[in-house]
Amino acid sequence: MHELPITEGILKIVLKHAQMNSVRQVLAIHLQVGKLSDLEDEWIQRYFDYLSKGTVAEGAKLKIERMPIMVQCSACSTSYEAEAANFGDLICPACGDKNVTFLSGKEYYIKDMEVQ
Ligand SMILES: [Zn+2]
Repeated sequence: MHELPITEGILKIVLKHAQMNSVRQVLAIHLQVGKLSDLEDEWIQRYFDYLSKGTVAEGAKLKIERMPIMVQCSACSTSYEAEAANFGDLICPACGDKNVTFLSGKEYYIKDMEVQ
């Protein structure tokens, strides 16, 4: 269950921001999570609810947006979006090469927060 340390990390950043901006209550947190990451939205929210008890972020709703998986062609360096379902079958739209490097898809970050 790697959602737990990640959720802890998110909460830490949220609380730091809240403190710096004298926030009384965090209402919602917009997260961007790469499509390649196997984090489950439901579990992130559950851990968040558990960890944020007694803090200004208690009860905040996590809004999770899935970010596209980007790959780069090994032959011509063109970047393009890949679907997880097509991993065995990626073809560069520019040159037709099949070798790629993954650029993104596993990262996560906080895009925005709703506070009062
Ligand atoms: Zn290419």
